Amino acid sequence: MHTDTLALHYGYNQEGVGSMSVPLYQTTAYDFKTAETAANRFALKELGPIYTRLNNPTTEILETRIAAVEKGAAALATSSGQSAIFYAVVNLAEVGDNILVAKKVYGGATTLLTHTLKKFGITAKLFDSDHADDLEALIDDKTKAIFFESLSNPHVSIADVQKIATIANKHGVVSICDNTVATPILFNPLTKGVDVVVHSASKYITGQGLAIGGLIIERNGLNDKLIANVRYPQFNEPDESYHGLVYADLPFPLFTLRARLSLIRDMGACPAPFNSWLFIQGLETLSVRMDRHSTNALKVAEFLESHPKVKKVNYPGLKSSPYHKQVSEDFKNGYASGLLSFEVEDFESAKHVLNATKIFSVVVNIGDSKSIITHPASTTHMQVPHADLEKSGVTLGLIRLSVGLEDAQDLIEDLAKALG
Ligand SMILES: *Cc1c(COP(=O)(O)O)cnc(C)c1O
Repeated sequence: MHTDTLALHYGYNQEGVGSMSVPLYQTTAYDFKTAETAANRFALKELGPIYTRLNNPTTEILETRIAAVEKGAAALATSSGQSAIFYAVVNLAEVGDNILVAKKVYGGATTLLTHTLKKFGITAKLFDSDHADDLEALIDDKTKAIFFESLSNPHVSIADVQKIATIANKHGVVSICDNTVATPILFNPLTKGVDVVVHSASKYITGQGLAIGGLIIERNGLNDKLIANVRYPQFNEPDESYHGLVYADLPFPLFTLRARLSLIRDMGACPAPFNSWLFIQGLETLSVRMDRHSTNALKVAEFLESHPKVKKVNYPGLKSSPYHKQVSEDFKNGYASGLLSFEVEDFESAKHVLNATKIFSVVVNIGDSKSIITHPASTTHMQVPHADLEKSGVTLGLIRLSVGLEDAQDLIEDLAKALG
């Protein structure tokens, strides 16, 4: 079946009373009815709900459906994109290990993976995801994960996914791709040989800025990489916290199973059932929204590129973009999602544009149906000294847009007036 159909139906057949909308199981726990059923569920002899921190029927439909839409084997939902990244990485790396992290990733991922994880004894080494020429030389015996974004936020650059996956596979290291901006509608990293995909469901998946959530999806056949791999003893040796269970002996997708049974069980960043229900609603319309986000963003980018007061426009969908060829070849219809950035003369002109637009809201979020404008130099990158900003690709006059679903002509006229 095609992605659009899976996003609307997969994992739910109107069973029970025939409710068209997926039922919301707003509950903490479940009646096992008998002591034997309870014991069997805990012993994994029988699969079924135990406690909402571990699993919930509404969340399970979200997990089953996103796994199908991303063309993966299984998924785990979490309370935020940040917790999805954290669990995906610490499912692989422990104290004394290292991880390889792309230079161009979301600010929250950078601080989590390079600063906070350092306090847990996991160190990060940075690599260039555009070309990945430096990646292989960074891998050693203690390297447990390679983390990057397919379409990066806020740099709007495209990673060489195929090359990163090939290097990761050659060395038996698990690759993790954050696919939040590209979305599973436009691009599926797992079909390019990537092992694990993570999402912030808070962006395009919810689509209307309704809730915070995260998703982890593993590829079909990832077990073969984990089983008997000396890098990953946690999947191959008895887990003392689970009465000596050896994950490798079980007939399930092991990456998400261990993240659920060990990490979510103990650290608890599970989604609220209501938020899972909201993400299911979002997923059902994601495909039509991504078409509109992408076509609107291209029209806005082309307008900005032709404007005399705009020095530069970064949008992978533009013919002038260094990433245009990759997007045309690998992304659905050559669509490049809704994120773009452009540069005006200086700090003051950028602030003027932000204040003068009427339709764009000044918000530090992306993926909302409503258009958003941000000035990184005075907000997300405020702590960075001006001299260092240029190096990170964030100039004083850089403006980021998350182009929404409004009429493109209205957005263009709003920007035209603001630019003066
Ligand atoms: C927002 C975002 C995150 C973090 O997700 P939250 O749901 O806000 O925790 C991670 N990666 C990318 C690319 C993002 O845009």
